[in-house]
Amino acid sequence: MDEELSCKVCGDQASGLHYGIVTCEGCKGFFKRTVQNKRAYTCNGKGHCPVDKAHRNRCQYCRFKKCLYMGMVLAGKIFIILHVYIIY
Ligand SMILES: [Zn+2]
Ligand SMILES: [Zn+2]
Repeated sequence: MDEELSCKVCGDQASGLHYGIVTCEGCKGFFKRTVQNKRAYTCNGKGHCPVDKAHRNRCQYCRFKKCLYMGMVLAGKIFIILHVYIIY
């Protein structure tokens, strides 16, 4: 698969540039919902869950963390990172 056409977050087929990086529709919607609803996720693991096409729905915390790590931003809403935390 062409690197530039795969989602930077999960590796699925990307649909274009969304919030600063190339992602699929799934990750785009996931990121938007998370920011708009100010969702706070928790990880049942240690915050290092695999995030790929097959596992992306397993852990929303790790998926969102990867979105941020890969550079996704919604103008003025970068503070959302403060709402993300881990409960061991
Ligand atoms: Zn994706
Ligand atoms: Zn996780």
